[in-house]
Amino acid sequence: MSDGRSAERQLVDELKLVLGPRGWLDPADASQLTVDYRGVFSGTPLLVARPDSVEVVQAVVRACGTAGVAIVTQGGHTSLSGGSVPTADRTSVLVSTTRMNQIVSVDPARFALTAEAGCTIEQIQQGAAAVGRELGMDWGARGTATVGGAVSTNAGGLNVLRYGPARENVLGLEAVLADGEVFDGLRSLRKDNTGYDLKQLFIGAEGSIGVVTRVVLRLYPRQNYQRTVFAALSQLESVHELFAMACERNHAGLTAFELVPETGVAGTVEMFGVVRPLQVVAEWYLLARFSGTSPVDDTSQGFLSDAFEAGLIEDATVAVTSAQEENLWLMRDELPPETLFDVRGAKFDAAVPIDRVAEFQQAAESAIVELCGDGAVVYSFGHLGDGNLHLYVVPSLERGSRLDVQVVEEVTARIDQLLWSMGGTVSAEHGVGQELLDRVSRQKSPVELDMMRRVKAALDPDDLFNPGRGAHSAPTQSFRGEMS
Ligand SMILES: Cc1cc2nc3c(=O)[nH]c(=O)nc-3n(C[C@H](O)[C@H](O)[C@H](O)COP(=O)(O)OP(=O)(O)OC[C@H]3O[C@@H](n4cnc5c(N)ncnc54)[C@H](O)[C@@H]3O)c2cc1C
Repeated sequence: MSDGRSAERQLVDELKLVLGPRGWLDPADASQLTVDYRGVFSGTPLLVARPDSVEVVQAVVRACGTAGVAIVTQGGHTSLSGGSVPTADRTSVLVSTTRMNQIVSVDPARFALTAEAGCTIEQIQQGAAAVGRELGMDWGARGTATVGGAVSTNAGGLNVLRYGPARENVLGLEAVLADGEVFDGLRSLRKDNTGYDLKQLFIGAEGSIGVVTRVVLRLYPRQNYQRTVFAALSQLESVHELFAMACERNHAGLTAFELVPETGVAGTVEMFGVVRPLQVVAEWYLLARFSGTSPVDDTSQGFLSDAFEAGLIEDATVAVTSAQEENLWLMRDELPPETLFDVRGAKFDAAVPIDRVAEFQQAAESAIVELCGDGAVVYSFGHLGDGNLHLYVVPSLERGSRLDVQVVEEVTARIDQLLWSMGGTVSAEHGVGQELLDRVSRQKSPVELDMMRRVKAALDPDDLFNPGRGAHSAPTQSFRGEMS
């Protein structure tokens, strides 16, 4: 056995002792943790560590640091950019936070909740609801995605309009650093102007500078009243006017403003037994929710009347029972085409200014016709109110269809150019992971990338955490500003 192999074996033995019998898994018995959610990225770690306390995380980090073995942190493993699996080119240990799953405290008076990093979003939503409070964050993977993952990807989701992304919902956090020390930023203050706000460095860092172990989250008063509206759009071009109308009715009460395609409605009706909400069939629909601490019926009705009068919608319905409400949100949760149709192609987590969403969608459709003829279709849905479209280019919506790798590359280059020309971004909320490295380096200026690399080098000089992913790992290449 070579020296390297025997050092690895020694590390594994040491980690098994530190972790205890329930605290580790052999990668051969955990294949679901080593392939990413979409089945695109995979990597085999030396060991899957499942620590159950901050102290054990510290011991794992110190042992890996001494051995020069990388650490890839994994929460719920729902990353859509390949962030939660080891890279194939560096020996690593996978640290799964799923055993650190306790809500530490709920403080309704302070509107704050402290949770271990492995708590799921749904678990925290329930913990908040139990004391008459509400968590701001929510999205389809709520039952699996963890708060550590949400913080590390600065996750967005359905309620960003009202509550902001993860960054705006974190009051404090604790993390284990590369040298095994603990950064204790577990505070619940709204105001604290005493130097750099260091917790912000971990938010959206994709696990690159430490293992987040506990988080203090902001809570909100429970919204006991809500109305979800579903409307058939007259045309996509005026969605920004529709959005302005909803904001003018009740900006603070507008919690979600989502775009739904007819293909998605038809798919969820067929696959998940969703009840078709409207008889009118349109190309696009709006799914929006108003909520508040007092009734919002007047707001939702008023908004729909305004929209009808302006000719922006053709037909609409308001969910008045919890079953109708659930039906509409089930439809929204099941829109991702990977699960709905099991299709794969080029995927864009795109954002553009809201008044350019329709223009972006239409320009993308024209570009795809030009590039692929009738060999591909564009399927989009998403967080319209945030200017965030999840746009997919796939060969068809036939179950199991896959787009050729070379076509994916051509399509990606073309749509990214389009995005940048409209002042957009290639990653609105899913992070960079492994998937977007090349693309992000064209979006960020060399100065911005260099600043990120300097932060990383200062806090993790040996590149221990999540090597080869995150924006700071992007290769230096032509910045879009320098491209012809
Ligand atoms: C059906 C579906 C719908 C989704 N909808 C949305 C959506 O609307 N909005 C949105 O933003 N995202 C969405 N996502 C993406 C995903 O759920 C989020 O990115 C989520 O935040 C990931 O959480 P996780 O616990 O699964 O993290 P993982 O996938 O396990 O990890 C994600 C990244 O965070 C790092 N990480 C995880 N835990 C820690 C920790 N404790 N310390 C340090 N680093 C850590 C990992 O190394 C990795 O880089 C969706 C995913 C699915 C499958």
